[in-house]
Amino acid sequence: MTILVTGGAGFIGSHATVELLENGYKVVVVDNLSNSQKASIDRIKEMTGKDFAFHQVDLLDSQALDDIFSKYDFSAVMHFAGYKAVGQSVEMPLSYYHNNISGTLTLCEMMLKHNVQKLVFSSSATVYGLPERVPIEESFSLSATNPYGRTKLMIEEILRDLALSNPSIRIAILRYFNPIGAHPSGKLGEDPRGIPNNLIPYITQVAIGKQPELKIFGGDYETNDGTGVRDYIHVMDLVKGHIKALEYLEKHEGVETFNLGTGTGYSVLEIVNSFNDVTGKQIPYQITDRRPGDIGVCYANPEKAKKLLGWQAEKSLKEMCRDSWNWQVQNPDGFTQ
Ligand code: NAD
Ligand code: UDP
Repeated sequence: MTILVTGGAGFIGSHATVELLENGYKVVVVDNLSNSQKASIDRIKEMTGKDFAFHQVDLLDSQALDDIFSKYDFSAVMHFAGYKAVGQSVEMPLSYYHNNISGTLTLCEMMLKHNVQKLVFSSSATVYGLPERVPIEESFSLSATNPYGRTKLMIEEILRDLALSNPSIRIAILRYFNPIGAHPSGKLGEDPRGIPNNLIPYITQVAIGKQPELKIFGGDYETNDGTGVRDYIHVMDLVKGHIKALEYLEKHEGVETFNLGTGTGYSVLEIVNSFNDVTGKQIPYQITDRRPGDIGVCYANPEKAKKLLGWQAEKSLKEMCRDSWNWQVQNPDGFTQ
């Protein structure tokens, strides 16, 4: 079975490509490298000892995409490609709507044209907005607080409409909580451009001396220690959930939505302490104002994925921190040598 992986050079897509190859799937990757490097593709080939086709193509280029769909016989699509930075989406909303939504529309049009019926889509816990309570269930009301989140919400709606209009279409919408960690080999990981926005790459850059100290955004949330709580999930657990979703789509029509999280929340200070243990260093930090748009507490109820997909996260917080740190130490400048 050949799977089209869009965004397969990026953080999560590259780990998913490894997992697919190791589970016997054939893979074709499409990525325009707008937020990644070709080196990640080379690493995947080196790590797995398997070859696969990579096309540096933009999803908005419908002719190029059409050619790719004509060339291969895809069983399914895993769709990771998209812009993902919340702050940037506030500054450049049109670019986010255009890239994420038009890119997905073009992809879905090609799937219909070439009779490809199965799609696994990367959504986000951001679609729960300010959740009514925790743990968050898939049936909770949805909202968005920034253009990035709205692209995910709109794409989810588009996919639900598509499935309604065409009973042979099968879609798994996967709402990720906070993916962190890296491949245990240290050969693949998250490679943000410039100063990281997210907590873990920021901490590892502090630990390695690239940033002076961590700024903890808010110490007055209603949590045990006042800092924000999130459901961090190891990227290897996350991509295993994608394989289970593909298997699920073999047997089920229509559209189904799943939370991919661990069900456990950790505070920023708990994360810092875990990194102190793993690195043997004291991460310097300062508690500052809350970051606008942040919520206090967010963690999943992952029971639906456990019941219907037979999947649950297995890796501990310590493993997540160890693998993030291992990647950072082995690749201080990411994929840029
Ligand atoms: P990433 O930026 O590392 O990977 C996305 C990849 O898509 C990049 O390689 C980029 O070059 C490519 N891309 C972007 N626009 C494209 C286009 N028009 N055509 C072709 N390629 C394009 O991001 P990631 O962290 O791997 O995230 C993957 C998906 O998961 C995204 O859709 C993201 O919104 C979603 N997601 C990520 C997180 C997270 O914390 N990382 C959380 C929730 C959801
Ligand atoms: N955070 C922080 N300092 C940083 C980056 C993040 O204190 O430099 C906090 C943020 O307020 C949130 C948690 O870490 O409570 C996770 O933030 P991240 O941006 O990684 O993911 P989010 O949950 O916002 O998608």
